Amino acid sequence: MLTRIDLRTSVPAPTELRATLPRAGVDVDAVLHQVRPVVEAVRDRGVDAVLEFTERFDKVRPAGVRVPAEELKRALDELDPVVRDALRESIARARRVHTDQRRTDVTTQVVPGGTVTERWVPVRRVGLYAPGGLAVYPSSVVMNVVPAQVAGVESLVVCSPPQAEFDGLPHPTVLAAAALLGVTEVWAVGGAQAVALLAYGGTDTTGEPLEAVDMVTGPGNIYLTAAKRMLRGLIGIDSEAGPTEIAILADAGADPVHVAADLISQAEHDTLAASVLVTDSPELADAVDAELARQVTATKHTDRITEALRGKQSGCVLVSSVDDGLSVVDAYAAEHLEIQTANAREVAARVRSAGAIFVGPYAPVSLGDYCAGSNHVLPTGGCARHSSGLSVQTFLRGIHVVDYTEEALREVAGHVVALADAEDLPAHGQAVTARFRGDR
Ligand code: NAD
Repeated sequence: MLTRIDLRTSVPAPTELRATLPRAGVDVDAVLHQVRPVVEAVRDRGVDAVLEFTERFDKVRPAGVRVPAEELKRALDELDPVVRDALRESIARARRVHTDQRRTDVTTQVVPGGTVTERWVPVRRVGLYAPGGLAVYPSSVVMNVVPAQVAGVESLVVCSPPQAEFDGLPHPTVLAAAALLGVTEVWAVGGAQAVALLAYGGTDTTGEPLEAVDMVTGPGNIYLTAAKRMLRGLIGIDSEAGPTEIAILADAGADPVHVAADLISQAEHDTLAASVLVTDSPELADAVDAELARQVTATKHTDRITEALRGKQSGCVLVSSVDDGLSVVDAYAAEHLEIQTANAREVAARVRSAGAIFVGPYAPVSLGDYCAGSNHVLPTGGCARHSSGLSVQTFLRGIHVVDYTEEALREVAGHVVALADAEDLPAHGQAVTARFRGDR
C-alpha cells in the first residue's frame, strides 16, 4: 500500500535526501494570493467582512463573533461525563509538564558592578486557534491554553470555526474544553479570517470591542497558515503547524499491527496527512502493508485514510541499518517520530530533528495527541529542523536588563569606543565618553 523508496545501497546527503523523501505538496506561498484579499477585507471592514467569508467558507452566518457566556456554560453542563473526565485528565497532565517548563530569571554578574539579567515576561494578549474543518479539536484548546496560562498570559481568546449544525457556534466540545480551562473569551471564527481579526481587532455585531492580540498560535489548514505567515511581524506566531505527519523508525522486532495502527491514526486527520515508515526490514514493510490493507477497511474514515496513505506525502523508506534510518528521520524532521526498534531509548537519544519523539511500543502518537502531558501543536513540513512545538516558552519573551555602575562602565569605555569607531559610528562612543568628561 505504501510507495517504497529503496535507500539500501546508499543514503544521500541531507539536502538531497530531503528532496527524495515523501512530503506533502503543501505550498503555503501558493495560496497567499487567495488569503491576501481575505486579510485586507477584514483589516478594512472588520466583522462585516469576517461574516461574509464565514458564510462563504463555513456555510453559516453566526449572529456575532463572540460566543455568549451562557453558551460556554451550557456546553460544559451538557458535556458527556466520560469526555469531561478525559479532558480533565488531559489538562492535569499537560499542566504538570508545562509547569515544569517555566523558566526563572537569570542574573549574570559580568564584572563587579555590571550585571545582565534575562527577565522572562509573558506576552500580554494571545489568540489561540483550535481547528474545526474536517475534524474538531477540543484537544487543541487544551494544548494552546495550558502553556499560555502557565506562562502567565494576562488575556487570551480562543478561536474556532463556527459549525453550521450548531447554529454558527464552534463545536460544543470545543466550547466545553474552553470552559473547563476557565477561558471566558471564545470567538466563532476560523481560517484566514480568524487570524486577520485577531491581528487587527474589530467591533462585534453587538457593538462590543474585539480586542486585537499580540500573538496567534495553534495548528490549522493551509489558509490559516498562509494568514499567519502573512501577518507575522504585526503579530507573533508559533511555528507553522500544518497537516499532521508521523514517521516510524522500526526494525524487524516491531509489531506490524501496532506500526500499521499508528500510521493509520495520523492519516485519519486529513487527506494531506503524511505517514512514513523507515525500516531496515523488508519483511516488516511487507507485514505492515498487509496490516494496512486489513485495518484501513475496518476503520471509520477509510476514504480519507486511503487517500492520505496513497498520497505522495506517505511512503516506506527501506534502509540497510537503523543508523541509516536515523539519517533519514533526521533529514525528514517529522512532526511526530516513533522509535520502534531494539534499544529504543538509546536510538531515540540520537535523534536530532523531530517535533516530538515517542519511544518504544507503548508510546503511540495518539497518546501524545491527548493525554501524555506533552504538547501536540508541533512543527510540520520539515520545520522541526529549526523550530520547536508549542510550550510555555512560546508565550514568554526574554528581556535583557542591563545594569552597570559608573565604575563598571568606566572600565569598559575604551572597548566600546574602539568598536564604535570600527563601525564608523563615533556618536556611539561619545555617548559613553560624555559621562566621563571630567576625567579628561
Ligand atoms: P481549520 O480550522 O484549520 O480550517 C477550517 C477553516 O478554513 C474554516 O473556518 C474556513 O473558514 C477556512 N477556509 C476554508 N476554505 C478556505 C479558503 N478557500 N480560503 C480561506 N479560508 C478557508 O480546519 P481543517 O481544515 O480541518 O484543518 C486542520 C489542520 O490542522 C489539519 O491539516 C490537521 O492535520 C492539522 N492539525 C495539525 C496539528 C499540529 O500540531 N501540527 C494539530 C491538530 C491539527
